[in-house]
Amino acid sequence: MTPFEGDGVWLRCALHAHTTNSDGEMAPDMLVRHYEWAGFDVLAITDHWVRTVERSTRKLLVIPSTELNAQAGGPEHDAHVLALGVEADPVIPESEFAPLQEVVDWIDGNGGVPYIAHTYWSGLRTEQWEDCTGLVGIEVWNAGCELEIGRGDSSLQWDEALERGRNLFALATDDSHHPGYDSGFAWTMVRAEDRSQAAVLAALRTGSFYGSTGPEITSVEVADDAITVRCSPAASVTLLTGKTKGARANAGRLGYPNASEIIERDSAGLITACRLERMWSTPYGRLEVADAAGRRAWTNALWIAQPQ
Ligand SMILES: [Zn+2]
Ligand SMILES: [Zn+2]
Repeated sequence: MTPFEGDGVWLRCALHAHTTNSDGEMAPDMLVRHYEWAGFDVLAITDHWVRTVERSTRKLLVIPSTELNAQAGGPEHDAHVLALGVEADPVIPESEFAPLQEVVDWIDGNGGVPYIAHTYWSGLRTEQWEDCTGLVGIEVWNAGCELEIGRGDSSLQWDEALERGRNLFALATDDSHHPGYDSGFAWTMVRAEDRSQAAVLAALRTGSFYGSTGPEITSVEVADDAITVRCSPAASVTLLTGKTKGARANAGRLGYPNASEIIERDSAGLITACRLERMWSTPYGRLEVADAAGRRAWTNALWIAQPQ
């Protein structure tokens, strides 16, 4: 079951943002106004080691959250973990941060949804977090890490984990510290039962969402032999299925087709619907849509093989 099937509402979510309660520039109430004006439906405020609680508005659901540090295999390997919707206030340790597994267990035990943030920015190897029990996913795209040092894209690490059968989901986030300058670049489109905190957290736990920095994915049909995708005008639509395999539809002058067929184009020749062939015995499959400006959208895995 993908988020593109069944019922529910689509909610545009900002799931990683900082305020003056940690190292952000805007006070919590102003950050809420900011994301509300920017057209978001949900905001998780994720100050470092502070669970910022701010009132929701009529348009914007605010989910109190926090971002914690953890050791991923030693003190020199600092992991940041989002604790989305966690119900307890964290206590910053006096000396060393706890191991990743302990931090994830604490989040889980207190009603939160643990996602490891910006793994590429942190310089973590996939082996340092992929086997962590209870870890729900990672950030495939962190806009702040990209804006600051060009390390926002963790898709390679995500693919490594998926290929080994770890069904981790992946968010796209702003990680905003200077709203207006570094916000509104990335979001997560959540398909939830309704517009409530419980429903959004349930969707984040089950992967009922896709991340985006621009493109919209309107439908995905998964069949045994092919995937049919409909989306906002795209320069390419890719089916990633593990090393050396996959499929891609490309718009443009020559439009190199690899195991794909464009079904529908807009007046500029960009792809609005296509069919991608699915090969047998691939370890997983996920979609990436890129628009003409290079902005991307990422679905979670549409299928995944059991780990060996
Ligand atoms: Zn961080
Ligand atoms: Zn952050």
